[in-house]
Parts: sequence; structure tokens; C-alpha cells
Amino acid sequence: MFDFILKPSQRTIYERNFKDNPEKLRRWNNLLSIALKDNVVTNKHTAERVISSSQKPFTAGYLINLQLGEVLMSTVDSQDSWILEARDLDGDLLQDARLQNDSLILNYKSDKNIKVRIILQAKLETESTTDFKIYTLPQYNFPVAGKGNTAIQSFWGGASRGGGSRSHEGNDIFALKGHPVVAITYGTISSIRNRGLGGKQVWIKDYDNGYLHYYAHLNDWIVNEGDMVWSGDTLGYVGNTGNAKNTPPHLHFGIYKNGSAVDPKPFIWKTQVPENTISLPQLINPRANGFAANLRTEPSSTSVILQDVKTEPVTIIGNNGNWYHVRTSTGLSGYMHQSVLVEQ
Ligand SMILES: [Zn+2]
Repeated sequence: MFDFILKPSQRTIYERNFKDNPEKLRRWNNLLSIALKDNVVTNKHTAERVISSSQKPFTAGYLINLQLGEVLMSTVDSQDSWILEARDLDGDLLQDARLQNDSLILNYKSDKNIKVRIILQAKLETESTTDFKIYTLPQYNFPVAGKGNTAIQSFWGGASRGGGSRSHEGNDIFALKGHPVVAITYGTISSIRNRGLGGKQVWIKDYDNGYLHYYAHLNDWIVNEGDMVWSGDTLGYVGNTGNAKNTPPHLHFGIYKNGSAVDPKPFIWKTQVPENTISLPQLINPRANGFAANLRTEPSSTSVILQDVKTEPVTIIGNNGNWYHVRTSTGLSGYMHQSVLVEQ
């Protein structure tokens, strides 16, 4: 097997176990097709405890809207018992997770806004209850040293500029005059200017991704055109040059892709890794209690209702906070609040 050249997916490698067992392969593929139809929606900060047994192998799909600039992360704390993948809405594989230390880790970024379906499927014969997470990380570090999200006080588009003639093509990050601004990734200083609306400006080319990073209204710079910089290197200092001369000092930070500005916020907005601290009791034969027994797209009472499950039996496949992740006998998956599930 030339796996080092062809880099087959983890799924392809696992399916080699079934080459003499078409019945098992068919069962395995059926479980995938169930997950590919799931309409569960996840926010970008989800932690779930998932349950798999040889009788009821775990399979589920989770939809997520990924923005340009966000890195999609998904992890399962287990050795080698799961397949974890990002797929597009046609079901085609975008990226699969790889083992790192004791976790399976998926790491995917797109060059456009995209809807992704994450597939989590337990290998057959897995007996496991484990933690599963979906979250995003910013693609880059923060451009003002020691500052974070709260320092961004003017966002993309919103406030109109120049008497309504321009929309705001960046983020304004406030700090005292003289505060260091830093490179957010490895790159090259592509130009330095002192002119126009931006005043004193530094531009960095990120060759890995093709983006230009724009730092404007600087009080001063300490780099030269052609310099290579690493993430965290000081480029210059916050000021109010250019058309910021009558406003408090701030960095106007922009990102340009193929000559057009894109919203820099998802690239730099700091996030936290989610934790699920709640383990709900494991009901043996759960069914809905018939009273507002709604199956929902998200673990939230404001999310879309997929079905009123009435008093039907369901299978619990995990929990997210006070919500059970369940699957009905017809294969529909969603979330039900713990209060509406009882023992048969
Ligand atoms: Zn601005």
C-alpha cells in the first residue's frame, strides 16, 4: 500500500477491514448516509458527550456556517475508535481528522464563506462515551500587542464614512498612542506609505494565503520594505495620522484578498475552547413524555422544531448541556430537553 503517496482518508483505511465482509460494509455505509442527512445545526462553540455501543454505533452530522478567516476545529478525545470529517453539502470530503496525541483533531479552513457538515461516526464495535467539540479559531493572531476583542470598537461595513459615501472596510482597534502594532503571521513588508486617508501605513504580504494586511493611522513604523516578519514582531505604533487626525488614536486594520477588502474580524476574533460540564443520566429505554416533546435543530429552546415526538421511543446518542442529542426510530436526529424524556 502506497499510503504515504496517496494519503488515503481514515475512512478508506478503515474500510479495508471489510473487504471480505460486504454485509458489514453495507451497515457501515448506511450509518454514514444517515449522518449525511442530519439537519442538526451547531454554533461555533459546541461541546457534547457522545455515546457509542456495538449495538448502537454512533453516527451524526452537524451543520456549521464557516466564515472566511475562521479555522474550523473539531476534536474527539479518544484513540482510534472514531472517524471525524468535514464534508461539503454534496457530501464530498473536505478534510478528515488525524490522530494527535490522544485526540482525533480536525482542522479546516476555507477561502470563502461556506456551509460545512461535520460527520462523526464511531467505528463498529466501539464501546465509548467521549467528549466531542466543534469550535473555531481565528486564522491569525491579534494585530495590537496585548489587546483583544474588546479593543475593536468599530466593525466592518456598519458605520458609514465620508458622509455615507464609503462603508468601513476594516476594523478599528483602539489603544493609546505609541502602543505597539504587531504582525499577525509570517510575511513580508510589501509597502510602507505616508499618504491619503490611511496616513502612515504598513502593508504585509502573507504569501501562504495570498492576503495583504493593512495597518493604518500609525504614529510611526520601525520596519523597512522587503523585511520578513514573524507573528508578534513589532511593526510600528498606534497613532491618528491620515483622516484619523481628529479622532482618538487607533489602528485601522484591513485584509485584502485579490485586491478586494474582506472583513478582518473572523481572522483575528479570539475564541475559547468549549467545555461540556454536564453529564445527563443515561436512560435505558427513553421515550418522549408527550408534553411539548419537541425535537429541535439545536440544544436551545429558540431553535427550529423538527418534529413533535409525542410519546415515541428515541435513542440517546449524546448530551449537550441540559439537552439530549437523540435519534428517532425513523432516523431523524436533533435535541430534546432533558425534562421531556422519561424511562419507558
Ligand atoms: Zn477604520
